Amino acid sequence: QRNTIMQTLTILGSTGSIGVSTLDVVARHPDRFEIYALAGHRQIDKLAQQCAQHQPKIAIVANKDLALKLQLLIQHTSPDTQILYGEQALIDAATAPEVTGVMCAIVGAAGLPSALAAARHGKTIYLANKETLVVAGSLFMETVRKYGARVLPIDSEHNAIFQVLPQPYSGNLAKHGIQSIILTASGGPFLHTDIQQFPHITSEQAVKHPNWSMGKKISVDSATMMNKGLELIEAHWLFNCPPAQLEVVIHPQSVIHSMVRYADGSVLAQMGNPDMRTPIAYCLGLPERIESGVGALDFSQLNALTFSTPEKERYPCLYLAYQAMKDGGSSPCVLNAANEIAVAAFLQQHIRFTDIANVVRHCLEKHSQSSLHSIEQLWHIDQQTREQAQQYIQSIA
Ligand code: NAD
Ligand code: MG
Repeated sequence: QRNTIMQTLTILGSTGSIGVSTLDVVARHPDRFEIYALAGHRQIDKLAQQCAQHQPKIAIVANKDLALKLQLLIQHTSPDTQILYGEQALIDAATAPEVTGVMCAIVGAAGLPSALAAARHGKTIYLANKETLVVAGSLFMETVRKYGARVLPIDSEHNAIFQVLPQPYSGNLAKHGIQSIILTASGGPFLHTDIQQFPHITSEQAVKHPNWSMGKKISVDSATMMNKGLELIEAHWLFNCPPAQLEVVIHPQSVIHSMVRYADGSVLAQMGNPDMRTPIAYCLGLPERIESGVGALDFSQLNALTFSTPEKERYPCLYLAYQAMKDGGSSPCVLNAANEIAVAAFLQQHIRFTDIANVVRHCLEKHSQSSLHSIEQLWHIDQQTREQAQQYIQSIA
């Protein structure tokens, strides 16, 4: 009896952790969603499997060589899927007229051009790619407003906040009697590790998150708590929240996904099992609540919800990010680019875990902060920072 309009989706980063969770939710609701495009970059085996299941109009990979390989893999299982490659194909898939919503789940600043293009075309943007807001927060939000696009936060903390904010939320905290926004953080795998041991942390240890299963980059970011730093900047732009009204609290069980503190003393929280299908289903289903496949939160199995404050010596990246947010302008772009290079170098065992913060700090110190005018300027700063970070890594490696 329900009269839902079919949504036509493009999923950028379909082969990643968020992409796979999104397709899991989509597959539960064939009456609501159809897939226009899937973009999987280099993971063509997984992409071939997804094409066979979802029969997209378009599949996108990184280059021509991979496109030819994918062609062979899907010629019998998804013969009507057109295979495209490269950056422009991502932008075209994000802006095609028949597309109603775009899941932006590419990792890193590489996800920015397609997210921005979706905004320019007034799409509904399911935003997992937090780097978009870190690198280009003001430009992205301006574009969203100018072209009447809609941003729905997939990141679990921001999704939680979105769920407990008054709706419609005006973007003015005071008007709604909001005192602050509280981001919860698990503290990552090294919450209780002796800080003296930090230089010896391996990449295998760092990517093993206690509660969430995620891509490698965000897993390392969670271990350094740079992830929470990026999320502070993300919240700053999404909710128009000044730095002084953003709090971070460590909550190792990851049951409370974030909170909003109101003037009357109330604190509203959103809870659930740590599974990204909940925020994904929330955004895809709006204004309805739809089945996500996530099990019920079992209170008989929860023996404690605990909270603590992040220590500065344990999580220097969190504080570097907080400072970059306060400095504003081009600083968050530098923070992000330096961090991407540092995390990649750590994963390749070129630098130590503790060097990630050193690389980021070095790049922020070298940078003379400027105000932002254009995306071109941002790309220039992004590229410059990446080169600087590489040079610094060579000097310490
Ligand atoms: P992932 O590494 O598992 O997947 C990344 C996806 O992006 C893959 O499909 C990959 O093929 C694609 N990709 C990588 N580089 C690309 C490039 N240069 N151009 C085009 N496509 C490229 O990452 P993930 O964990 O799914 O995270 C994706 C984004 O969502 C990140 O920005 C992350 O911060 C954010 N996020 C993830 C989670 C989570 O639970 N995994 C939670 C919150 C936010
Ligand atoms: Mg998060």
